[in-house]
Amino acid sequence: MPEGHTLHALARDLYAAFAGSAVSVSSPQGRFADGAALLDGRRLCAASAWGKHLFLEFEADAWLHVHLGLIGKFSLQQLEPGAPAPAPVGAVRLRLANARNVAELRGPNLCAVVTPEHVTAVQARLGPDPLRPGADPDLAWQRISRSGRTIAELLMDQAVLAGVGNLYRCELLFRHRVDPFRPGRELRQSTWTALWEDLVRLMPLGVATGQILTMADQVEDAAATLADSDRAGPYERRFYVYQRTGEPCRVCGSKIRTQVVAGRNLFWCGRCQRRR
Ligand SMILES: [Zn+2]
Repeated sequence: MPEGHTLHALARDLYAAFAGSAVSVSSPQGRFADGAALLDGRRLCAASAWGKHLFLEFEADAWLHVHLGLIGKFSLQQLEPGAPAPAPVGAVRLRLANARNVAELRGPNLCAVVTPEHVTAVQARLGPDPLRPGADPDLAWQRISRSGRTIAELLMDQAVLAGVGNLYRCELLFRHRVDPFRPGRELRQSTWTALWEDLVRLMPLGVATGQILTMADQVEDAAATLADSDRAGPYERRFYVYQRTGEPCRVCGSKIRTQVVAGRNLFWCGRCQRRR
């Protein structure tokens, strides 16, 4: 499932491609024909993400709400000047097009035209998103510090924290040597602050590079490169614990373990992440 950085990158790219002019909106597959007809020909005013939800604001208070779910994909293609848009291939739920770009959405969990009130209500149900300016980590801490659920579960709960998925969860807990099974109410506030600040550092690198980077050397390289340039990478796909079951921990050599937590495989090092 895409994590929050993917949705923020999509919002950025869709805005760059379509903002300011009338967008041709259609549903080649037909399942979103009524919604597409409502939006067709309107100007795109804004695009943003909150966690794993994407919101496109069209003129006259019409909003498009998209959630990709497990298998949804939004692809964006730039057209050669004067070239006709290619015909849609496969089950395209939503197609956005202008003279220079075509974007196609396939297999989303949700694609709907909604009101501004609906957008506000959805956002109110979500926890703070480390990628949104001004996001308040205390809102997440209020829930974490009162919960008997494990921190590994809480990090995946979008009502606690929005945007973090399984990969960031596993790697973040390793980076801070936090026992994934520690209940939220036993976590120190200073630990939560460190986890949050790390997400605020790591996730923008994900937006900028299109890759989840968590290994210290890659994070440092990307942060330094992006300080003077808007591109970095691509980087080797390499993690501390994610999908490394049975392999030696890169720090202590113990075997990396796995167990299903909150519906997804959690990976951790039983020695580095022992409860203190
Ligand atoms: Zn270890």
